[in-house]
Amino acid sequence: MNKREYADVVVVGGGAIGAAVTCYLARSGMDVALVELGEVPWGSSKRCDGHAVTYDSPPGFFSRFCKMGLDLFPKIIPELPCDIQFEPEGIGLLADDEKDLDTLHQTLEGKRSEGMNVELWDQDELRRHEPHVAPSVVACLNFWGDAKLNPMRLAFGLSRLAEKHGAAIHTRTQARAILKDKDAVCGVETDKGVIRCRRAVLCAGVWTPVIAHTAGVDVPIRPRQGHILVTERVRGLVGKNYAEFGYLAAKGGQKRSGVSRDMEQFGVAMVLEPTSDGTILCGSSRRFVGMDMTPHPAVMRAQAQRILHFFPKFAEARLIRSYAGLRPATPDGKPIISATEVQGLYVAAGHEGNGIGLSLVTGHVVTQMLKGEEPDFDLEHFRLDRFRQ
Ligand SMILES: Cc1cc2nc3c(=O)[nH]c(=O)nc-3n(C[C@H](O)[C@H](O)[C@H](O)COP(=O)(O)OP(=O)(O)OC[C@H]3O[C@@H](n4cnc5c(N)ncnc54)[C@H](O)[C@@H]3O)c2cc1C
Repeated sequence: MNKREYADVVVVGGGAIGAAVTCYLARSGMDVALVELGEVPWGSSKRCDGHAVTYDSPPGFFSRFCKMGLDLFPKIIPELPCDIQFEPEGIGLLADDEKDLDTLHQTLEGKRSEGMNVELWDQDELRRHEPHVAPSVVACLNFWGDAKLNPMRLAFGLSRLAEKHGAAIHTRTQARAILKDKDAVCGVETDKGVIRCRRAVLCAGVWTPVIAHTAGVDVPIRPRQGHILVTERVRGLVGKNYAEFGYLAAKGGQKRSGVSRDMEQFGVAMVLEPTSDGTILCGSSRRFVGMDMTPHPAVMRAQAQRILHFFPKFAEARLIRSYAGLRPATPDGKPIISATEVQGLYVAAGHEGNGIGLSLVTGHVVTQMLKGEEPDFDLEHFRLDRFRQ
């Protein structure tokens, strides 16, 4: 261990969450070291797409937490050493079933009452903006503040900013065990040596249960696989980001009508993210298949068919690659941002499909928690022991 043998706080895992936690801790003046198995980022944060959004949660506390997360991006961007390609161009939620219109109206009112800039387009208005949308689409609920960004640049930029504020970044270093003295954290054992510390924050995404287990702590996170298809550079197919209304049901694991058996069993719902490079990232799917990150042809086919259902003209675009990643999913789909029963041991993981958008706000509230300040958001919702009650 050459870089640092002591730190006040050790962060385990250098994905979007760990990089943000390290950055906010270091920026607040704390002595912090990050330990990452690979490079920053290495896990799910480099196998996802980059929506930082509020559209995918119904009005309520989680929606407000997502909004708080989104609002932090413009504040930190001027400090970052690289362009994270943040574009708050909005996302449209497409409904292809008249039965969903009442819920869309309720969502519109609920989100507006939470201060979000939301607007409903009817079929004609939508077609004026998106001439290639399928005739079956009846309405579009636009979330104008929602954004996209490049998650890899985000994690990398945050870790560099953390370093500038004095953090030690240990890449290619595996945390093997949390060391305890009686029932309090006293260090993190890595494959390169021990870093002594009084506090450790576990930000290892789907790997968090493994490292938490070494301290005797049970963390209920399961990997929920998802695929992305990437098109060649295309122009004029679609004007901005879109998702289908059924995405919320697929995320919640609910049954849906009007989808094929494969789409149902693979949790397929249309999501489109045109990147600043000109390619389009096409999602999404959700299934529990352990730690498998191999793209599966049947899932890819179902995903492509769902895109064509909403945008038939995508048949003209060639796919250049695909990948699969693992969403860290908790039993209720909400993250764990919490102290544990071991003194000095914290968990910031389990953000499922929102870890990129929630990275900054997680870093912010974890820093408040560790500094003994009143967090800006009620963290009761994200306690680890909610799963034991
Ligand atoms: C297909 C797909 C699409 C998605 N789209 C979006 C989206 O549009 N917007 C959004 O907000 N979220 C999205 N997500 C979810 C998002 O990817 C995750 O919520 C987020 O990446 C989780 O970040 P993390 O830092 O917790 O985990 P990770 O990025 O997985 O980071 C954990 C890190 O811990 C490291 N690690 C593991 N074990 C150890 C160890 N023992 N020692 C040291 N390091 C260790 C790993 O190498 C890894 O780098 C998507 C996910 C998928 C799969």
